[in-house]
Amino acid sequence: MLMEPYRIKVVEPITLTDRPEREKFMAAAGYNPFNLRAEQVMIDLLTDSGTGALSAAQQAAGMGGDETYAGSPSFYRFRAEVEDLTSYPHIFPVHQGRAAERILFGTLLRPGQISLSNTHFDTTRANVELLGCEARDIPCEEAGDIRSDHPFKGNIDLAQLEAFLRWGNVGQVIMTVTNNGGGGQPVSIDNIRRAGEICRAHGIPFFLDAARFAENAWLVSQNEPEFAGLSPRTVAREMFALADGCVASLKKDGIVHMGGVIALRDAGLAARCEQALIAGEGFSTYGGLSGRDLDMLAQGLREGTDAAYLRGRAAATAHLAGLLTDAGVPVVRPPGVHAVYIDAGAVLPHLPAELFPAHSFATELYLEGGVRAVEIGSLMCGSVDEHGVLTKAAPRELVRLALPRRVYTQSHLEYVAETAASVMKRVDELPGYRLVDSPKVLRHFKCRLEPVERSFRSGGLVGQADREPLAGFVDVHRDGFADAVDGSAPREGKPYSPVS
Ligand SMILES: *Cc1c(COP(=O)(O)O)cnc(C)c1O
Repeated sequence: MLMEPYRIKVVEPITLTDRPEREKFMAAAGYNPFNLRAEQVMIDLLTDSGTGALSAAQQAAGMGGDETYAGSPSFYRFRAEVEDLTSYPHIFPVHQGRAAERILFGTLLRPGQISLSNTHFDTTRANVELLGCEARDIPCEEAGDIRSDHPFKGNIDLAQLEAFLRWGNVGQVIMTVTNNGGGGQPVSIDNIRRAGEICRAHGIPFFLDAARFAENAWLVSQNEPEFAGLSPRTVAREMFALADGCVASLKKDGIVHMGGVIALRDAGLAARCEQALIAGEGFSTYGGLSGRDLDMLAQGLREGTDAAYLRGRAAATAHLAGLLTDAGVPVVRPPGVHAVYIDAGAVLPHLPAELFPAHSFATELYLEGGVRAVEIGSLMCGSVDEHGVLTKAAPRELVRLALPRRVYTQSHLEYVAETAASVMKRVDELPGYRLVDSPKVLRHFKCRLEPVERSFRSGGLVGQADREPLAGFVDVHRDGFADAVDGSAPREGKPYSPVS
């Protein structure tokens, strides 16, 4: 049964636009959906991050927020909630997930070290690389088959993990739950447990990137026999108990507009993170958030782990995936909870990776129906040279339709599926795109593109090498960044000691 387990008390109008208007908006945005304005978008599936609808209880909790600089009761309510979930004794609020990454990695990693993950999220990778370290993804083998219905395609490859840890120079292992970059696929508790054991045996810290911990817990309760019938909250507790700590964006399963957390077991590591927190985010009892935010978060974390809410959300996502499949639009299987991923590479064989086929599909979803989605393919994850020419393609060309929490109804999702079905009818005519400007790191947020016409395409990528270098393609100052994080250039002091 598909029924949203809530009713609507406050509404917000959607600005309706037509195709000629959207063509103008998209051209002015440099064909990058991140450059569109909200009122130019009809259904916004760009991200599920910070875009959820607050509940009446969260609004009420916000009114009780205490804005005391140090020692606010809002912090203690937030901390009690996170402690109940994670069992970690050292808990710091931060303004969002990437701040948690910057502080933890900057405290822990030394230049040249490797960070291992099932798949690093884009900001996670950037924060590793900005420290002069390498972010290495080692997803399980099943992750490579987007048609397989294996229930835990978010898992890490345990044999590769073991091999890397034997070989050395690994600074941390970070497990992303659910595996966002890998299609929103869940990680089994069994895989987390085994990965944690391997890390402990080698004395390497093992963290969760826990942005979607509740959705992961829901899928574990549905698909991992050992945990069948347990509440998502119980499963989440089990999951956190297996790691040395976590960084998390709470803009996802915390159902708030802004917020994140670092939570750790090790007192020494926590003390070093706390210094970076105070220098860069704010005092330990607010970390860049207001008291109001912290109270809404404490309530949001309770609602985000509610079984009825998670069941309804998973059903809505599965419904959208089903409608798309019926319309002949191939999607990554099995659908996760926070998003449906369209396999654009499979339907645009006339566009090579160099012409960013998934970006083309995402752009057309907007032009056709005002639906904003995001490419997760070679534009986001491939490598390009200073001319903007692709030098390494991504393994897959996907379009992510992320579902904000409690925002869109079943009829909105049906509209999205109809839009995608219309795009499918003209899929052979879609143009490719090429970069006209781009920064070097986190390209997809700020790059600008232009459509590539048919005549150009049939000649291959002629002329690309003669192009001017991209103006925005500049290096960031790595050492300066690393030093700013903890203020102590060579990192010394007590080595990290994982829990026994
Ligand atoms: C969103 C996200 C982040 C970054 O969090 P922000 O709050 O956007 O800074 C990190 N990891 C994962 C898996 C995420 O989904």
